[in-house]
Amino acid sequence: MSNIKIDKAPAGFEAPGFFATQLDAVVGLARKNSIWPLPFATSCCGIEFMATMASNYDLARFGAERLGFSPRQCDLLMVMGTISKKMGPVLRQVYEQMAEPRWVIAVGACASSGGIFDTYSVMQGIDEVIPVDVYVPGCPPRPEAILDGFMKIQELVGSESVRRRDSEEYKEMLKRYNMAV
Ligand code: SF4
Repeated sequence: MSNIKIDKAPAGFEAPGFFATQLDAVVGLARKNSIWPLPFATSCCGIEFMATMASNYDLARFGAERLGFSPRQCDLLMVMGTISKKMGPVLRQVYEQMAEPRWVIAVGACASSGGIFDTYSVMQGIDEVIPVDVYVPGCPPRPEAILDGFMKIQELVGSESVRRRDSEEYKEMLKRYNMAV
């Protein structure tokens, strides 16, 4: 017997040789199972991510084994580690080079809030420069927590309307970050 788990088909109408559903649901299903992460790892949380990619936790089970280091190919920015204020513009540039639709996870206390580094040189959370979709707590978060954050992203990706990126609400959010719409 096969251990391969098949994702559930979206709700729809079916009959022999016929199945109809919403475009959003099909696109969401494809996107959430083929995410290409871009690991932006600057310190210790990056090591936890390496464990998450390795065989014991195996991010490939979620269709996300294809890491990319070119922002133009990736749709999930995973920020892991302490981000200094000098690094902020670099992180922002990487985000801006990613094509829509794109999502962001702040992995660990440093990326989410500066963590223990409440100092003049460390950014107190990457949401000062880019919008964040999911925050993963922990210093460092265990691979299970990173996987949990990844699955939250999958839920968001799977349920997102294909029109969301054209919405006024989304454009307003980009404007708040002074990003081109
Ligand atoms: S949250 Fe903790 S483990 Fe992660 S980068 Fe910061 S200090 Fe290191």
